[in-house]
Amino acid sequence: MTTLKLKSNYLKIFFVFFLSFLCACAQTVTPTRALQLDKFQGMQSTATAKRYGLVIHGGAGTIKRENLSPRKETEIREKLSEALAAGYKVLDNGGASLDAVTAAIVILEDSPLFNAGKGAVFTTDKKHELDASLMNGKDLNAGASTNFRLQQIEKALENEKTSITKSYEVDDIDIFAHDPHHKFGTVGAVAIDKNGNLAAGTSTGGMTNKRFGRIGDSPIIGAGTYADNRSCGVSATGHGEYFIRYAVAHDVCARMLHGGKSLKVAADEVINQDLVKAGGDGGIIAVDKEGNYAFTFNTAGMYRGIKFSDGELETGIFKTN
Ligand code: ASP
Repeated sequence: MTTLKLKSNYLKIFFVFFLSFLCACAQTVTPTRALQLDKFQGMQSTATAKRYGLVIHGGAGTIKRENLSPRKETEIREKLSEALAAGYKVLDNGGASLDAVTAAIVILEDSPLFNAGKGAVFTTDKKHELDASLMNGKDLNAGASTNFRLQQIEKALENEKTSITKSYEVDDIDIFAHDPHHKFGTVGAVAIDKNGNLAAGTSTGGMTNKRFGRIGDSPIIGAGTYADNRSCGVSATGHGEYFIRYAVAHDVCARMLHGGKSLKVAADEVINQDLVKAGGDGGIIAVDKEGNYAFTFNTAGMYRGIKFSDGELETGIFKTN
């Protein structure tokens, strides 16, 4: 009896110790795990929130090293850097991706080096018809304008003719309009801000020597521009008719959203497979909701640039920078 009582007492003591041991373990394990989880979630959200930045383009086409003088290359790279810096400053100050996209594009539009705004190419009747669009990935709000011949813009272009002819050292402005290096030259930007919101914008003078009244892909949401926080933001450049038929900008985002593709794969399928098969020249710049980016083009080159919070400002022109 006594032995049994003793045994049961020992058992009770052992049980109490065992329980205390378990509690002690639970106390040490639980907070550590919680901390790890917090850290993991924290890292995830900070990674998303912290990685902000933008990509820009100044058109894609038959841009070859042998056709671009070192002086012109430097000028182009400097202007791309200026646009990137302007867009990045907005993001760095906590501004919205939509404002960053606008800040970057305005600088490229104001430069005669690109086929947009002041550098826009001529239509067959020697006018400038400008197309542009902008989209906010947060609420899918979008705006576009096409074919506007505002007097003010025409005036600005009149003044700009001097510097255009000067920079090309030719007297006949028509030569600029038929310059093969200006077959493309549209500008665009895609940004992701500190809140993870995406935005995209595109602006162009259209295809060189286009028939007056022709509308390309740049002012068409889903063709030349698209942004959706659930997938990615895209700005396109190239032979607009193909980009419209294949709803290129939207298709890249849709492949990500519905097909679970990565940005790189989605962009490659659309630009290097579907468009190549159809004979459509051009490319896209894009940023996805995680802050991954893509420069995908099926042409010899694309004027482009990138600046993200965790990387250097870089510009590129040819296939291998
Ligand atoms: N996509 C523009 C258009 O077809 C041209 C370009 O990107 O250069 O109007």
